Amino acid sequence: MHKTITLLSMSCIFLFACERSEISDTPPLISDTKAASQTHSVTAETIIRADSSGWLSHGRTYSEQRHSPLKEINTETVAELGLFWSFDLGTSRGIEATPIVHNGIMYVTSTWNIVHALDARTGKQLWRFDPVVDKEQASKGCCDAVNRGVAIWGDAVFTATIDGRLISLNAQTGQKNWDINTIDKFYPYTITGAPRVVKGKVIIGNGGAELGVRGYISAYDAMTGEQVWRFFTVPGNPADGFENETMEMAAKTWTGEYWAAGGGGTAWDSMAYDPELDLLYIGVGNGTPWNQAIRSPDGGDNLFLSSIVAVRPDTGEYVWHYQTTPGETWDYTATQHMILADLKLAGETRKVIMQAPKNGFFYVIDRETGAFISAKNFVPVTWATHIDQTTGRPVETEGARYVGETPALQLPGPLGAHNWHPMSYSPDTGLVYIPAQEAPHVYAEQTDYKRTNGFWNTGTELSAAALPTDKATFKALKAMVKGRLLAWDPVTQKPAWSFEHGGPWNGGVLSTSGNLVFQGTADAHFAAYDALTGKRKWRFYTQTGVVAAPITYQIDGEQFIAIASGWGGSYVLSGGGVFPTGSKANVGRVMVFKLGAKATLPELPDDNFILPDTPKLLDVSEEVLAKGNRAYDNNCLVCHGFQAYSSGLIPNLRYSAITNSEQAWNSVVVGGGLAEQGMPNFGKIIDDDTAEAIRAYVISEANSVRGQEFYQAIEN
Ligand code: CA
Repeated sequence: MHKTITLLSMSCIFLFACERSEISDTPPLISDTKAASQTHSVTAETIIRADSSGWLSHGRTYSEQRHSPLKEINTETVAELGLFWSFDLGTSRGIEATPIVHNGIMYVTSTWNIVHALDARTGKQLWRFDPVVDKEQASKGCCDAVNRGVAIWGDAVFTATIDGRLISLNAQTGQKNWDINTIDKFYPYTITGAPRVVKGKVIIGNGGAELGVRGYISAYDAMTGEQVWRFFTVPGNPADGFENETMEMAAKTWTGEYWAAGGGGTAWDSMAYDPELDLLYIGVGNGTPWNQAIRSPDGGDNLFLSSIVAVRPDTGEYVWHYQTTPGETWDYTATQHMILADLKLAGETRKVIMQAPKNGFFYVIDRETGAFISAKNFVPVTWATHIDQTTGRPVETEGARYVGETPALQLPGPLGAHNWHPMSYSPDTGLVYIPAQEAPHVYAEQTDYKRTNGFWNTGTELSAAALPTDKATFKALKAMVKGRLLAWDPVTQKPAWSFEHGGPWNGGVLSTSGNLVFQGTADAHFAAYDALTGKRKWRFYTQTGVVAAPITYQIDGEQFIAIASGWGGSYVLSGGGVFPTGSKANVGRVMVFKLGAKATLPELPDDNFILPDTPKLLDVSEEVLAKGNRAYDNNCLVCHGFQAYSSGLIPNLRYSAITNSEQAWNSVVVGGGLAEQGMPNFGKIIDDDTAEAIRAYVISEANSVRGQEFYQAIEN
């Protein structure tokens, strides 16, 4: 039999010393797991076996527990943990990626979907791939130019881009295998999630429910990029005919012309897979618009919004669903991280799926059947009193559906009691570790709602949630905004312990058999906690706030912990300026730690920013200012921040040169002058008068007493 050198072996020889013989007697086929495993190719078997030397799938395993059996770093040794190497990603926006580590190489994505392959031992860059995304398309994203990472399968790395592409790269060289479009670009679809690969199919969803799309998730052949199946998460226009019986069934739960705005239900983040049951679980998002009274005027559950849906990974065929928030109207997505585990409940071992979605309840669901087992609120909630044990449905409070009601603070808000930041489950302690938060919101109906393709279509009056302008009320509100690391017992549905952080929007979680829980925080630290008691055992200053989740891996018997920093995402865009956390110099970075290491981060750049002169107040009426204020809150706030004071992630309009010039302002706001940098052209929905009123409002904020000192003082 002739010897065959595989493509992998050749690149392996060129790039680094390989541990094993790279010459095999037979060509390794992807379907031939035995041969493939001999050449370090990633297969279903490799992921299921979950060798702790790497981190092969987004949640480490298909069950997405994000728990590692490694324990060299443990409660006894963690004090010796130190920085071993760091790698600057050269970015200044949010980094949400979970690195993937395989065969000594770390794959991590940064802003605008650039993929970096790093030597996992030294941090040396092996290759870099820039998909050159269409940044104008990216302006249709709700929540920063972020991405949650890659997937690996066979000899390829898969990345999904904010402009809707799915790309296969050679894992050794970064050369492109294929690059396909997964969206209809007429609609404001974006992708921020990490693909998963199941049975040779790359699975990816998308986002855009805030702006107006019809959600779906698709499977592509890992070798060819050819679409294998697509599962729509909400029904389309009945006049076009339903794709399948499932859509026909779902359509019975909608009313009115729901399809006109797309319906929403985007599957933008979580998935899990049970190889034994052969079920793929998908977390489904909120509706378009948020306000159900507009979306589906005569009510209905609106399947599969805010649901966990189980499908067959080979065909996308529907198997079961559980809806967390029937008739969703608050942006309560069920896209949050899902974990599969076997729990002993009432003396019986049950195969469960667990989720802590935005709506504030922790759910334990039977993952074979979708049957409700239990749910309990893990933070204070005001929209429902409890989940009915018999029906598995929430019991809503009066007035929670805000249409026709006096606007009032509700908990949780659209940021959720828990957002995309991954949690973890430790089989050792039996606890789920949740990056939990309390971020209230004033929901109100938008009385002059008009749908515009490509812009925020919530049907809610975002200006009703504007922050107070006087110090005392501002301070009182700030005190209600909280974040914590919460250890939750899924069997008893009770907290085991919690560690209070300075505010919300902290990083994802990793737990290990070293009896440790690792989490980064908004206040620019990375810390380890005792998994049983919540006592903080170790802490490292990261300069920049952390939102991503850590991982761990092992090379030559040595355990490493890795985390990517980069302060960003929806909360940071809207609230990062007025609720400062101490995150400095937004340097996107990968940091790797090991016992006994003593490296330091590069010095922070000098903070020599000189504030420009405050623009002169425009001579406009109170009425114009109020109009500008409302238009700002409804259109600009989500990215440029409350009270026109941004975190600096994107320009702070108060100090922007264009604010001083009507002509420059208009050329950007209603002329699309910075569309290629990701600033949408608002010309379609904002007229020149409104644009000028917004400018007058921004200038009035720049001249107000509320500035850096005000917000910093509030922080203390
Ligand atoms: Ca949403």
